[in-house]
Amino acid sequence: MKSAVTVVGAGPAGLTLANLIQQSGIDCVVLEKASRTQVETRPRAGVLEHRSVTMLESLGLADRLLMEADRHGTCEFRVSGRAFQVAYSDLYGNRQHYVYPQQEVVKDLIGSFLDAGGDIRFSVSDVELRDLTSSTPSVAFTSADGVRETIGCDFVAGCDGFHGVCRPSIPEGVLTEFTHQHGIEWLTILAEAPPSTKAVIYALHEDGFAGHMLRSPTVSRFYLQVPVGTKASDWTDEQVWEALHKRFALHDSTWSLTEGKIIEKRVLDMRSHVVEPMSYGRLYLLGDAAHIITPVGAKGMNLAMNDAATFGRALTEFYATGSETGLKTYSEDCLRRVWRAQEFSQWMVNMIHTDVSSPFFGRLAQARLEHLAESPAYRATFAENYVGP
Ligand code: FAD
Repeated sequence: MKSAVTVVGAGPAGLTLANLIQQSGIDCVVLEKASRTQVETRPRAGVLEHRSVTMLESLGLADRLLMEADRHGTCEFRVSGRAFQVAYSDLYGNRQHYVYPQQEVVKDLIGSFLDAGGDIRFSVSDVELRDLTSSTPSVAFTSADGVRETIGCDFVAGCDGFHGVCRPSIPEGVLTEFTHQHGIEWLTILAEAPPSTKAVIYALHEDGFAGHMLRSPTVSRFYLQVPVGTKASDWTDEQVWEALHKRFALHDSTWSLTEGKIIEKRVLDMRSHVVEPMSYGRLYLLGDAAHIITPVGAKGMNLAMNDAATFGRALTEFYATGSETGLKTYSEDCLRRVWRAQEFSQWMVNMIHTDVSSPFFGRLAQARLEHLAESPAYRATFAENYVGP
């Protein structure tokens, strides 16, 4: 089998890329280890930045998103029972976040790619990358029917997430890895509970951080900072709601938290990871395969889509003109935005956790929050980074 590009992984990165190059007339095959049902029902991120939406819209891929997504331009911080809001959209060119669950993005991208004649092989196994430094790499896989097949191609797009096979296919010593364990763990909760707020809430409490994120009119995501080493099963649903009520509580307010059935409860070890460069021979890494970021600033899915747009443009240029300029600068172009997002997320991690590393950093976090509450200039910088330039 032959194709110009083999895309490994049907997440936001792989599917955005597949749609983009399909529209440029570049043929590709997408290999995905999960079933279609699994990828279309896997709840993960849920916030798209303005520029991700603009990119999808320019490709004609945002019709349902634009109809159904909630727009958000304000977030709220709660500290010691008091709240203040930051209207980041007003502070940064009316740019807004679009709240649209990742699985809906994935569903839309699969639908559009297949409707236009695209080829996705779901439920594949034993994906193996070969001859990556030659001009004729190939990808072997076992199909859902158990048949071993090989695709010869010009390029391989490694879009298979942090635990995929693409990054480990690069010989040791080629990549420089930057990792940071934040020493913080969150219990992440998905509940069939309508949002109790119009603005994302970041709450600082002496028991630890709590977050109320928005997903849909019927589902909300919550975060609870928990002691390192905690297991999800250590927390009963009743304890989760009790802690959320306590950490979100406000003095002098009738605000209340709406409970619902908890449908997912996991512990998230907060870590950051970046590899440089994001390519090796004819293999290009995109999204979580190349970088992991904490969910604090809601950047993960957006970075994955930006990588796809950057690589898609480079491939389009290559096939249209033979120029390799975009391919050569791909890694550098993506990493600039990745590191900026990492810097902002780290800044936010330090601001919303008052007990990281030492009491000294706790005081710094308080000073940072007070600065944010009081200074229009500081808020404007926050807005630019939060909603994305
Ligand atoms: P992925 O979405 O991980 O897609 C990779 C795809 O490759 C998957 O479909 C996978 O099945 C497939 N694959 C893996 N290995 C192979 C293989 N060997 N062969 C073929 N296919 C393979 N971000 C937030 O901002 N907020 C959140 O609340 C949040 N929650 C998250 C929860 C989880 C469990 C995870 C993993 C991530 C979460 N993120 C969150 C991050 C965000 O979802 C990711 O940044 C985003 O999914 C990155 O997209 P991607 O396409 O690079 O990778």
